[in-house]
Amino acid sequence: MTSPLCIYRYRDYLEQVKVIETGAIVVGKSISIDGFAEKPVRVITHAHSDHVIGLNESIKYSKYIVATPITLDLAELLGYVDKDLLPLYRLKSTPLDYHKVLRINGDELVLLNADHIPGSTQVLVELAEPKIRVGYTGDFKLTNKTDIIESPDVLVIESTYGNPLYTRPFKDSVPQILVDIVLEGLIKYKRVYIYAYHGKMQEAMKILREGGISEPFILPDKVYRAVRVLEEKYGFNYGSYFKDNDVKYNERSRFIVFKHFNLAKTRRLNGMGLHIVLTGRYTREPYIKVDDYTYVVSLSDHADFNDLVGYVERSNPQLVIIDGFRPGEAGALKEALSKKGFCTTVLPGGI
Ligand SMILES: [Zn+2]
Repeated sequence: MTSPLCIYRYRDYLEQVKVIETGAIVVGKSISIDGFAEKPVRVITHAHSDHVIGLNESIKYSKYIVATPITLDLAELLGYVDKDLLPLYRLKSTPLDYHKVLRINGDELVLLNADHIPGSTQVLVELAEPKIRVGYTGDFKLTNKTDIIESPDVLVIESTYGNPLYTRPFKDSVPQILVDIVLEGLIKYKRVYIYAYHGKMQEAMKILREGGISEPFILPDKVYRAVRVLEEKYGFNYGSYFKDNDVKYNERSRFIVFKHFNLAKTRRLNGMGLHIVLTGRYTREPYIKVDDYTYVVSLSDHADFNDLVGYVERSNPQLVIIDGFRPGEAGALKEALSKKGFCTTVLPGGI
């Protein structure tokens, strides 16, 4: 257990860094990240629904909406900005590339690669007064692309797989498994249906192209628009793809249809296609065959338990704050980090 003494020692830090009931990570006087607070700056780490909460309120209140150029575009394309606020959103949008410094009232803000979904970032803030370095991982995956925030005074971290049971030793083999299952489906049925959330769809598309699969992708309208912007503005390359209401793809003999994760339960088990559900939930095996026509494949865009602990060890912060607002295993991760000697608390609530 973390001793209350260590929390007492870092009480000045806890004055400067808070996770509040709106889901915002508030740093110093000026910066609110991933939730609404009455601050001049709102940062969006990435375009997933639990990180754009309160965005419309922030567009009205804050002076600057800061994110990577990709995230600013995706937040709009995926419909997270109210239509009548779009002009204000575009006016206040402040694109910031990785490793570039933005100065706000004397504080310095830098975005760092999180390798989670396209455009996703971690955030490093150096407060002017008191002089404190604060890192926030947002959602991240630990790969050779991920930046590590080294020796911050405070590190705020996610806890999706924060339970020691949630290790995924097979994670490196999942891409090839996905390619193999898709190939099997294309050969047997010609049609493969993949159910996933935004972000993970793009990850799967990339994996399949790298795995040598060239059949066209059929995409939901919103995803199609997002993918087009990723290709045209940001140099991503997803090969051949169509909108799901575009009839041209019917001329092709084989194709891969991407659908929103929630539609998996309405899939038709009629022998006309193979269904693959991409889950971010913890599974013991890389994939499970749930019926004759359906596989569930464990493709995660989050650090597993060992990666979360490994990140904190490499980062070596004075104080760890676990984001207990978003779904995860905050209590278990706190226990594990405390055992390793890190002064750790969970916010909101301070459990
Ligand atoms: Zn996310």
